[in-house]
Amino acid sequence: MGKVRVRFAPSPTGYLHIGNARTALFNYLFAKKSGGAFILRIEDTDRERSKKEFEDEIINDLRWLGLDWNEGPDKGGIFTPYRQSERQDIYDHMISQLLGDGKAYKCFCTEDELERIRLQQIANGEPPRYNGKCRDLAPLFARSYEVQGKPHTIRFRVEAGIVEVEDLVKGMVSFDCDKIGDFVIRRSDGTAAFNFANIVDDSLMRVTHVIRGDDHLSNTPRQILISEALRFIPPEFGHLPLILGTDRAPLSKRHGDVSLKSFRERGYLKEALVNYLAHLGLSYGEGRDLLSMDELIDGFSLDRVASSPAVFDIDKLNWINSHYIRNCEPRKLRGLLLLHLVKAGVNLAGKGEDWIEDAVDVVKGEASTLAGLAEHIKMFIEEVQPDSEAHAVLKETGTTEVIKAFKEEFEKESSITPGSYKAVSERVKARLAVKGKALFMPLRAALTGRTKGPEMEKVLMLLGKEEIIKRLQKAVS
Ligand code: GLU
Repeated sequence: MGKVRVRFAPSPTGYLHIGNARTALFNYLFAKKSGGAFILRIEDTDRERSKKEFEDEIINDLRWLGLDWNEGPDKGGIFTPYRQSERQDIYDHMISQLLGDGKAYKCFCTEDELERIRLQQIANGEPPRYNGKCRDLAPLFARSYEVQGKPHTIRFRVEAGIVEVEDLVKGMVSFDCDKIGDFVIRRSDGTAAFNFANIVDDSLMRVTHVIRGDDHLSNTPRQILISEALRFIPPEFGHLPLILGTDRAPLSKRHGDVSLKSFRERGYLKEALVNYLAHLGLSYGEGRDLLSMDELIDGFSLDRVASSPAVFDIDKLNWINSHYIRNCEPRKLRGLLLLHLVKAGVNLAGKGEDWIEDAVDVVKGEASTLAGLAEHIKMFIEEVQPDSEAHAVLKETGTTEVIKAFKEEFEKESSITPGSYKAVSERVKARLAVKGKALFMPLRAALTGRTKGPEMEKVLMLLGKEEIIKRLQKAVS
């Protein structure tokens, strides 16, 4: 076999779905593993639903994930153009060839007629498919309809038989052509239909392996038939198992926003998403959950892809993200967090880079996303808003005395150092003869509005003397 060539072929009709991001990643890993080429092709033949804005967003997301392509609309390549809306003349040429060979024909059936046929077939318990009305339309009629300006589609002539495919993930799959019916390859507006443009491009772009979602399995026999009719050799196909929500329904909008963009905006690190997606439906072996891109490439094999659906587990993704956050280099983490701090409306005036870096370091174990961390940092800047547990602590008898004593003892410190916490709490303990929770909880609740959180010593350092006194004073009053 020649050099491996794979492609990711998104339709820019919406943001990149997390499942499509996995498809892109698997293609990328497959290409890298085999030293092949990874192509990006934009499938925008559906003029009404395709938007340049979505194309730009998809490209942004892929870049952000670090999936660089060798050929694509922005990069060019030997089979340019890579945007289907710019390849209409190629499709027209191929369709003329099929018409000339008698492998396709013009269909003048109206939408209403087709709908009637469809409903009738469903009522008869038959699989809905085109009934072949225009299949053998006499050329004279066809000509006269055209002269009258009757709109028409072009249909591919499907002959009886069986199409068999050795799918790289699912194994042997066979399709009965009888159930397919003659399908549209050119819409009445002159644009090429998805099935047609997709396989023509795969063939012309010398794609060797089509790796895509399971939802495209039923398109495969149609595409193999087209490819054979055009005397191409079909690529190999591998269909990835669906991704399901925890309710076992295909992952979709009803499970919340499942676009890659939304995960990015919530503050998932790309390393975490890449790792999580790489493991969706593919096992790298026991305990190999956190791998570098090189390790993912090295361990990638379609043989390892499960044929059953994968369930999207947000807890696992959060766990992976927490890991990458905790292990992120402090300066890098600070940089990544800045945007989230701004979005969370955190007023950073007067806070230097070092303070932000320290704050990030203090809270980095407290949330599993960057947006969550930003909320924690916010607590060091904005007025304390006690949650219900902290509120309960603050109302307990004796709490006010403890907070008051802390305030007075902190006032005696010239500045807050790493040793201040121990020294001050020893003095309060001696003064009031309280210890343990009764001593520490009021302080934490008054300073952070929470009953759990980062080490108190670090919290104190971050707040500084003035802010500590201010917060304790407020809690007392
Ligand atoms: N444009 C199709 C989609 O976005 C691509 C299908 C394929 O990969 O063949 O679903």
